Amino acid sequence: MKKLAISLGTIVLLLAAIVLIRTLLYTAPSLPEVTLQTARMDTGEIDPQKVARHLSEAIRFRTISSQIQEADTQTHYEAFIRWLAETYPEVHRELAPQRLGKAPLPPYSLLFTWKGRQPALQPVLLSAHYDVVPVIPGTEEQWQQPPFSGRIDDSHIWGRGALDDKSAVIGLMEAATLLLAEGFQPERTIYLSLTSDEEVGGDHGTAAVVEKLQQDGVQLAWSLDEGSFLLRGFIPGIEETVASVNVAEKGYMTVDLVAHGRGGHSSMPPQETAVDILAHALVKLDESPFPGGLDGAGGQMFDAIAPHMPFGKKMLFANRWLFGGLIESALKAQPSTAAMLHTTVAPTMLSASVKDNVLPIQAVATINLRVHPRDSIEKIEQYIEAVVDDERVDVVVHRGQAASRVSSAEAQGFRDIVQSATATYGSLVVAPGLTVAGTDSRRYETVADNSYRFNPMVVTREDVHGFHGTNERISIDNMVKATNFYSLLISRAGKGEIHN
Ligand SMILES: [Zn+2]
Repeated sequence: MKKLAISLGTIVLLLAAIVLIRTLLYTAPSLPEVTLQTARMDTGEIDPQKVARHLSEAIRFRTISSQIQEADTQTHYEAFIRWLAETYPEVHRELAPQRLGKAPLPPYSLLFTWKGRQPALQPVLLSAHYDVVPVIPGTEEQWQQPPFSGRIDDSHIWGRGALDDKSAVIGLMEAATLLLAEGFQPERTIYLSLTSDEEVGGDHGTAAVVEKLQQDGVQLAWSLDEGSFLLRGFIPGIEETVASVNVAEKGYMTVDLVAHGRGGHSSMPPQETAVDILAHALVKLDESPFPGGLDGAGGQMFDAIAPHMPFGKKMLFANRWLFGGLIESALKAQPSTAAMLHTTVAPTMLSASVKDNVLPIQAVATINLRVHPRDSIEKIEQYIEAVVDDERVDVVVHRGQAASRVSSAEAQGFRDIVQSATATYGSLVVAPGLTVAGTDSRRYETVADNSYRFNPMVVTREDVHGFHGTNERISIDNMVKATNFYSLLISRAGKGEIHN
C-alpha cells in the first residue's frame, strides 16, 4: 500500500514537473522580423484634421446598399463617386478608376489600377466597401450624434460607416495621395477596389470587380479586405493589442427542416403532430453540436495569443495534451469563441399551421449555419440528416456557401501586413484568425493566391456596439494610423520583393 502511494506520488510530481516545464518553455510562434520604416504619421505628412474632415464628408452620403434600388439612394451613390473624384484628384488621374457593376443597376464599384513597372510580377489588391447598413428606424434617438452627420468632436468622427468601412476607403485614398505626391511608382501592379454592395452580398458590385479581373487574366498574389481589427481588451488577461489578421472566413448555409404530419381537427390530435416531430428534430440538433476544436483556422489564433496569457491560462494551453478538453469546453461556453471552433447552428424562423384549431400538415424550421472551414456543405447536410434520423423530416438546403480556403500566414503578403501594422502601432500580438461573418474576400479568393482580412484600426469592446448598431465612430488617431499603415503596406508590397 505504501509502495503504491509512493509511486502515485512520484507520478503526480512528474506530471506537475512536465506541466510546469512545458508552460515555461511555451512561447508564441515566431513572427517575421520587423524592419522599421519611417512612420509618416510622426513627420507631419499626414494632417489629422484633413483626414478627419474627409471621412466626415464621406459619411454624409447615404450609400445604403439595402436601399440601392431607390432613386434617392442612387443620387447619394452618384454624389459620393463625384465627391471622391473631387477630393482625390491625383489618385483619379493616375490610377484611372473603372466603374463596374452588373445591370440593371448602374456601375457603382470602382477599380483603381496602379500600374507596376514589372508586368511579370503578380499584382495585389487592397479593398474596402463604401456602402453601409441602414440605421434601424426608431434608434436615431440613441445616437449621441446624428448617424449621417459625420460630426467631428475632439477625438472622434461619428456616423454610419465610421468603422464599417468608409474609414478604410478614406485610409486607402489618403495613402495613395501621399505616395503619388512622392512620385512613388510600384514595381508590381496594385489594385484598389472600392466596392458598393458588400453589405448585401456583393452580387452587383464586388462580383463585377472580380469578373473584370478574371477577364483580364489577373491572378493576385494576395488581396486585403475587411474582416478583423487590432483588438484591445477583448481577451481577458491580455494587455497587449492583438492584430487579428484573418486568414479564413466561415461559410453560410440556410437549411429548412420540414416535418410532415396528418393535419385535421385540433380537438383530436394524434400522438405526434408535425410540430412535435419538428420539435424533436430541433432538440436532437441542439444536443449534438457540430464537432470542433482547436485544430485548424480558429485554433491558430489561440496558438498565437495563448503564450501572452496570464500564467494559469498559459499553463492550460501549454499542456493541451492534458487540458485540451477543459480548454475546449470553456471556449465553447462563450458564443464568440465557440463560433471560431466549429460550425454553428442557429434556428431562426418557424412556421406551421395557418390557424390555431387546424393541425399542421407540415411544420418548418429555418436554420442558419455558419460553416467552419473543416466542414463541407455536403458533410453538413449528411450530419444533420444523421442527427435528426427521422424519415418524417426532410432536410432542404436553401443556400450553401462553403467556407473560404485558409490562406497562408507565412506568405509574403501576410508578412507585409504584419510589418506595416507593427511599424505603425509598435509591438503587437499577431494572430492569424478566422472571420465568423461573410466579407467580399470570399469573392476575391477566386482570383487570389491568398486573401487576408484586416482593418488597421484599434477597436475596443465598447466600439463593437457601433458595428451595424448605434453610435458608430472612429478616433482621429485611428484614421491617421490607418493612413500610415496603408501607405507603408502599398510601398512594401509595391517593391515587389519576393523573399519567402
Ligand atoms: Zn463591412
